[in-house]
Amino acid sequence: MDFALNDEQKMMIETVRRFIAEELKPLEDELETNGELAKEKAKTIYRKAKNLGLYGMNMPETFEGVSLGGAGLSNLDRILCEEQFGHTSDYLIRRAFGNVYEPLLHCKGEQIERWLKPTVAGTRTCAIAITEPGAGSDAAGIKTRAEKNDKGWVLNGSKHFISDGLWSDFFLVSAKTGEKEISMFMVDKGLAGFTLGKDQKMMGLRGTPHVEQFFDNVQLEGTALLGEQGQGFKLAMGALNVVRLAQVGARAVGKASHVCELMVNYASDRHQFNTKIGDFQMVQQQISDSVIEINAARWMVYHAAWMLDQGLDAREQIAMVKVYAAETLGRVVDRAVQIFGGMGFCKELPIERYYRDARIYRIFDGTSEIHRGVIAKSVLKKGAVLFDVNR
Ligand SMILES: Cc1cc2nc3c(=O)[nH]c(=O)nc-3n(C[C@H](O)[C@H](O)[C@H](O)COP(=O)(O)OP(=O)(O)OC[C@H]3O[C@@H](n4cnc5c(N)ncnc54)[C@H](O)[C@@H]3O)c2cc1C
Repeated sequence: MDFALNDEQKMMIETVRRFIAEELKPLEDELETNGELAKEKAKTIYRKAKNLGLYGMNMPETFEGVSLGGAGLSNLDRILCEEQFGHTSDYLIRRAFGNVYEPLLHCKGEQIERWLKPTVAGTRTCAIAITEPGAGSDAAGIKTRAEKNDKGWVLNGSKHFISDGLWSDFFLVSAKTGEKEISMFMVDKGLAGFTLGKDQKMMGLRGTPHVEQFFDNVQLEGTALLGEQGQGFKLAMGALNVVRLAQVGARAVGKASHVCELMVNYASDRHQFNTKIGDFQMVQQQISDSVIEINAARWMVYHAAWMLDQGLDAREQIAMVKVYAAETLGRVVDRAVQIFGGMGFCKELPIERYYRDARIYRIFDGTSEIHRGVIAKSVLKKGAVLFDVNR
């Protein structure tokens, strides 16, 4: 068992770390204050990140024998980058490094030129639209329907909370195509009958719009169907599985590490009763608990990524990561607010923002309750040895 990172991985982490510190961190305050980033600045960070060769890092370099332009990273390498991404805002990461969903690799024929390639190149932006007002945790309970006609499919229904919904060029939309059958469609913005509703304001994640969508007899071409008819639920769940590990698990570890660093520095600088507050055992316990939990979460994330790279089924491990990393982040930011005292609650420092931004991690991409349910069901069915790597 080798826990060491190789030189290439260390260099990649250092490159991403430097890029975030030099290019993205300075934009955080503007984003928080204005709720958006000037277009030229978004373009600049995209261009600079592209030069690093890490745009579309989860996509392969070639696809069906032709160049696709992805970074072709392994799951573990991607996770190492995603952990660093946690050190800044998700919005800035999406603008710089993109957000290309894995189901797009099911594109075939003309779909490749129209949807896959431009998304990997960053000239088109894609978002995923599964959740509906009446179907959140129960993603199979959607009401949106697509019915076949002679021109392709007719889409009716609605979605909400769709991240990046305002400016994405197209959406991966899940829809019922039979009583118990769900398919996935690539739906371009601007199609007749497809309208965006309000931007649903959130507690945190400033900058990212989360919007409602309405489909009123939207005529889709036959080519809009992604993968096979009836494969949509599997595609959606497969996409979310990797998102949970990368954008929730690894980023939560990065965010918790970042906040932990700030609280350790503060505990060393801040004096009360003529001594550093870090000298008080009750403060020390909050720091040590944070470090212990971050360390455990990090190894869970790396292990699950390693499993994916071995071609193993890591669904249960990823469910554990989703719960543990998200909840670790929640505990660490809560302790940070406490250690910073009044300054932790004050908008002059970013701690209160980190606290607000962290809360969603326990909710999106499957709530903690849903993932605990998945883990318990698996253990009850397969036995408690399921998670013993020695068995
Ligand atoms: C900021 C943000 C961004 C999002 N981005 C996207 C996006 O880009 N695309 C997209 O499709 N969706 C997106 N979502 C939707 C998100 O994935 C859902 O909010 C999430 O899955 C929970 O669904 P819900 O909000 O309907 O809660 P509900 O499913 O109504 O759950 C409410 C409560 O009931 C509990 N509960 C439900 N079922 C069970 C059960 N079986 N056992 C135990 N407890 C249960 C839940 O854990 C929760 O505590 C986003 C949401 C937010 C807030």
